[in-house]
Amino acid sequence: MTKRTEHLEVLISAEQIEARCKELGAQITEDFAGEELHVIGVLNGAFVFLADLVRQIKLDVSIDFLGLSSYGSRKETSGVVRMDSDLSLPIEGRHVLVVEDIIDTGLTMNYLLENLETRRPASMSVCTLLNKSADRRADVPIDYVGFEIPDEFVIGYGLDDAEFSRHLPYIGVVPQPDES
Ligand code: 5GP
Repeated sequence: MTKRTEHLEVLISAEQIEARCKELGAQITEDFAGEELHVIGVLNGAFVFLADLVRQIKLDVSIDFLGLSSYGSRKETSGVVRMDSDLSLPIEGRHVLVVEDIIDTGLTMNYLLENLETRRPASMSVCTLLNKSADRRADVPIDYVGFEIPDEFVIGYGLDDAEFSRHLPYIGVVPQPDES
């Protein structure tokens, strides 16, 4: 235990995540049978989930990343999204699977899908580890969801708290001051 994890409550354990990655990987393998799959990870948050997920996909898989950040405070996104780093590979004619850590308002994914559509992929699907739909503001299509979660600020397994805690092997909730 560290200073930053001592009050953390485990919401989803490493074992639960591992089991769900296997299920999602099997489903994706079945859905894209006979195809090559181009997986795009959204940095920074998706790097841990993507690494576990792709190892459960039994297809010919290529991988690329892009970096996005949205302005706003820790709990309130502004909806203004910035692309910090673009893809290195073209996606035209490819079956693309976008992998995200969490979809909250949906504004980030909405921006990303609109951007990627202009590059004419053969198909585009979305996989998110966490779906926090209480405050959804953009109607984004989500094909694969790891876990539905309540409207709490979660960290770990790629998700940060001011850039800390991405390395935790589980998803935790930091209790708010009035709750602890
Ligand atoms: P959006 O609201 O646009 O769907 O999500 C914007 C971004 O906010 C996500 O990609 C993620 O980086 C961040 N975010 C949303 N909810 C949480 C959360 O509970 N914990 C963490 N660490 N980041 C979150």
